[in-house]
Amino acid sequence: MGRPFGVEVATLVQPYAARKRYLCPGCDGWIPVGEGHLVVVPELAPDLRRHWHRAFWDRELRRRYGRDRTTI
Ligand SMILES: [Zn+2]
Repeated sequence: MGRPFGVEVATLVQPYAARKRYLCPGCDGWIPVGEGHLVVVPELAPDLRRHWHRAFWDRELRRRYGRDRTTI
């Protein structure tokens, strides 16, 4: 499994900073305005940033890298 876009950096978006709703690729559900979540940005392809529910990003990391992966 390669990482063509480099390491993905996940950053918390605080509730007050969540001014738009976003579609979460982890569950295909909407993250509503005002809900804290994560923005995940590939290091080499910042245009591909996606917004994730925290729980679903955690689950995605476990799916990719195994249960010992630590996350924020
Ligand atoms: Zn989700």
